[in-house]
Amino acid sequence: MTEKKVPFTLAQLEQIEKSYSTPFHIYDERGIRENARRLKAAFSWNPGFKEYFAVKACPNPFLMKILRDEGFGMDCSSLPELLLSEKVGVVGEGIMFTSNDTPADEFVKAKALGAIINLDDITHIPFLEKSAGLPELVCFRYNPGPLKGGNSIIGHPEQAKYGFTREQLFEGYRMLKEKGVKRFGLHTMVASNELNPQYFIDTAEMLFDLVADISTTVGITFEFVNMGGGIGIPYKPEQVAVDLTLVGEGVRQAYEKRILGNGHPPLKVYLECGRMVTGPFGYLVSRVRHIKKTYKTYAGLDACMANLMRPALYGSYHHITVMTKPGAPCNTMVDVTGSLCENNDKFAIDRILPELTPGDLVVIHDAGAHGHAMGFQYNGKLRSAELLMREDGSVKQIRRAETVEDYFSTLDFDAVAKF
Ligand SMILES: *Cc1c(COP(=O)(O)O)cnc(C)c1O
Repeated sequence: MTEKKVPFTLAQLEQIEKSYSTPFHIYDERGIRENARRLKAAFSWNPGFKEYFAVKACPNPFLMKILRDEGFGMDCSSLPELLLSEKVGVVGEGIMFTSNDTPADEFVKAKALGAIINLDDITHIPFLEKSAGLPELVCFRYNPGPLKGGNSIIGHPEQAKYGFTREQLFEGYRMLKEKGVKRFGLHTMVASNELNPQYFIDTAEMLFDLVADISTTVGITFEFVNMGGGIGIPYKPEQVAVDLTLVGEGVRQAYEKRILGNGHPPLKVYLECGRMVTGPFGYLVSRVRHIKKTYKTYAGLDACMANLMRPALYGSYHHITVMTKPGAPCNTMVDVTGSLCENNDKFAIDRILPELTPGDLVVIHDAGAHGHAMGFQYNGKLRSAELLMREDGSVKQIRRAETVEDYFSTLDFDAVAKF
């Protein structure tokens, strides 16, 4: 069980609303920092441990700076993400560039920044060599295919577009060695939103065994393994967060047995989590605009799927707290909707909540990853502001809401008038 709490009171939200109107995303700095420290502590047995924050989860430079302060690197997979990382002062091997179907200019920028380049395919070796030149350190992404079960968001590894096959890894590292590459890493990412701690321990065991195998066969020494991201979060109250200490301890035991125990040199362990880093610490705050009763009861919010599209995209559950009805009995069934002209613009279907009335203030939980970041402007729905609740309780706007001018900024109305 996970108690779905909020880090602010109704009075605090009403105060915030005097400066920023709903809907808005608000992030809890204290929660983000404490969680970051828990993650680091779980792997503190590994001297080179580093978490590379998967920027796509929440690409806000203020939050990235907080994470940089906590010692995190940045996991980037596009040119804008590389530029964001550069802007917050994370460069060099503070960046893991894990991309796929990569354009040449992104390899050029990643190489110029000194990022760790993680290749998704064996043909990217000559492609990288030709476009940017091979760096001294190269990593490959492994796709174990049928050798490992997947999970529902990422699907089965053998149907995933990512990574090298096992045979391609051996061949690829041989090619790198021949071409004079000196430093090596191995990466995999086979799960998304996984809540079973054993899954990550199994992944580490798989990587450690592979490192041992490839080192011996190809005659190279690995510097790190990157276990990818995919640590899930308890979106539903009946779910339980991944016990990070347990994962860290399981990975340590596997490391001591399979790496140190077999006489292999020490390895750095990396993670590139996104969701669990910011997800639980972001909240979408919205007011009920209309209550509509037809064949069902609908509560229409001033937020819509442009602010959080996970329910529409994956049918995901996001917990909803009605701030203005504390202690009221949950006795009515509603669909909680937005105003977008798509019938799947619903934050919840058949949700049991206290009886809602127009003006109620609701908080949608776990919106801190793939929330604002997945926003879009379809139907002229504009993305909301992002706010940060600092550790002292003060609130800072870290991205303003979009305006109609932003929406029109790629159009030339003078040209339209003359057309
Ligand atoms: C999305 C992604 C991550 C982060 O995944 P989470 O589920 O958010 O932890 C890490 N690495 C790669 C390559 C990704 O695409």
